[in-house]
Amino acid sequence: MIFLQIQINTMQKIILGLLIALLISCGTGKTINAVQDDAVRQKYAEEIQPDELKEHLYLLSSDILQGRKTGEKGQKMAVNYLTAYYEHLELKAPVDHSDYTQNIPKKYFNGKSRADSKNVLAYIEGSEFPDQVVVISAHYDHLGMKKEEVYNGADDNASGTSAVLEIAESFQIAKNKGYGPKRSILFLHLTGEENGLYGSKYYVEHPVFSLDSTIVDLNIDMVGRVDKKHEENKEYIYLIGSNRISSDLHRLSEETNRIYTQLKLDYTYNEGNDPYQYFSRSDHYNFAKKNIPVIFYFNGTHEDYHRTTDTADKIDFDLLALRAKLIFYTAWEIANREHKLIKNGE
Ligand SMILES: [Zn+2]
Repeated sequence: MIFLQIQINTMQKIILGLLIALLISCGTGKTINAVQDDAVRQKYAEEIQPDELKEHLYLLSSDILQGRKTGEKGQKMAVNYLTAYYEHLELKAPVDHSDYTQNIPKKYFNGKSRADSKNVLAYIEGSEFPDQVVVISAHYDHLGMKKEEVYNGADDNASGTSAVLEIAESFQIAKNKGYGPKRSILFLHLTGEENGLYGSKYYVEHPVFSLDSTIVDLNIDMVGRVDKKHEENKEYIYLIGSNRISSDLHRLSEETNRIYTQLKLDYTYNEGNDPYQYFSRSDHYNFAKKNIPVIFYFNGTHEDYHRTTDTADKIDFDLLALRAKLIFYTAWEIANREHKLIKNGE
């Protein structure tokens, strides 16, 4: 219907307007005095801020985006938001993907999407080893609407999506000040996760950067909430998969957290006998199947999981920022240290 079409276009403009206002408000960096590497990465980690995460997350999980269902209008609006953001940050779009998207044809989704859909990709080229790629991923799709009710998917996975945007911004600000990464970093927003990990499956079958030189996938899916087990001590995150393909990655991750973020790293769901099988339940799994080292960052489930009550007001933004910083520091170390990650058995 025409009226609805006009309404959505107007809403898209409003979202872009808010985005531009947000960018103007946070654009200026500070002068660097410290030359010590440690101080440098800490400085840029501080660019990850709870109020900016909040702006992203409230927009992405708002009713306007109608639950971001794969192939639907609300999801396309999310794509516009993500690509406009990267354009403003002046991140690179991959060759042959100049609009920051990878199109996936409708038929690939086995009847689970009414239209083509897109992964969103933006990257920062490494200064010393540009061919080696660190992937930071999160799915941006969710369940859409049922009977007029919106599944906002604030934790699942507007939280991870917002974290990727803030991490990308921090790396880009650092690069603009002369501290770009030695290895390339790809920020990858995946579609079709909720109905079968389709976006990541398509990506690994049609890689934009060679999988042979893709050295890790740090995948973020649900990182803004606290589960029952950790109500008393909420500065935690579940890590899944970190030691399975590269013990080197596991050690690096532990050490990074010890120095910079001091979260409690909970490996409960990394056990081989995990009854919930979380290792196979988000997008990192498709990278792991290609023997690429992965870490899946996850806050565990809660009573609002896959319900219309997974809303933005229940997100802990300070905690989301702290977890995003852990991922930023981990990516920084992988991207900048002398040695490439070593896989088990190498
Ligand atoms: Zn989900």
